[in-house]
Amino acid sequence: MFTNLGRFALFAGLLLVGQNSSAADKIRVLLVDGQNNHNWRATSPIIKKSLESTGKFTVDVTSNLSGKEADKPGSITPTVPFPVSLENYDVLVSNYNGASWPKSFNDDLEGRLRDGKIGLVIVHAANNAFGGWKEWNQMIGMGWRDKAFGARVKVDDSGKAEIIEKGKGDSTGHRYTGEFTVVVRDGEHPVTKGMPKEWAHPRDELYDNLRGPAENLNILATSYSPGTKTHEPMIFTISYGKGRVFHTPLGHDLGAMNCAGFQTTVERGTEWAATGKVTQDLPKDFPGEKVSIRK
Ligand SMILES: [Zn+2]
Repeated sequence: MFTNLGRFALFAGLLLVGQNSSAADKIRVLLVDGQNNHNWRATSPIIKKSLESTGKFTVDVTSNLSGKEADKPGSITPTVPFPVSLENYDVLVSNYNGASWPKSFNDDLEGRLRDGKIGLVIVHAANNAFGGWKEWNQMIGMGWRDKAFGARVKVDDSGKAEIIEKGKGDSTGHRYTGEFTVVVRDGEHPVTKGMPKEWAHPRDELYDNLRGPAENLNILATSYSPGTKTHEPMIFTISYGKGRVFHTPLGHDLGAMNCAGFQTTVERGTEWAATGKVTQDLPKDFPGEKVSIRK
């Protein structure tokens, strides 16, 4: 009898693993929004749906509403009240660009990220936020800042990176908006492994001259800006203590976020930031020479 029960338990366990359906196995994502000079109410649902479509994640959304926004609903109902303890999450995805978070929340993020207990993902204008938060700037590597704020990284045709020191060159901008090509510079990283060397991205703001401490960076992909006539970092990672940060300035609006390349990049980047690995195959609709849009 004992043996039979044991066999049944083993069999049931295998079924769960095979279907990858156990919520306990999933990566716990906290998506933060609620303030942004971009349409966060429209874009957060895209990020949530994209992550959940992989079967790898559970996604809670928390909206830090304030002022005249406080009486309006968040992007998704129900949301987790803000601020929330990060102890039950493996990775924080920021779609937030607004007023400072409470110090207790910032300290929680700093401590857990430094200890490698949580990962961080930065999407587009999330890198505009919190210029006065020193540790945040270390975490995100570079953000939308004045040229006097910090260094910038530009990449030549061969892929060689050059640091431009603070004060020299231009402040952050998007001197080109339109379709552009993403060029993979490190194809061995788990996030970019298997991606075509070059892939097409639909109309988006091409951020240039991102500024910051620019320390502990790994540039995975760049895009050539006709505005700056150089290659700008477009997918990169930062190490912060034992923690992993994944950062992409892609994703200005719905059109940009419907790109299968953008979504795959964030799906893989979020898994990598949480676990250090990527277990997702490259999807069949991943773009190559032509853009690939998910509806
Ligand atoms: Zn934008």
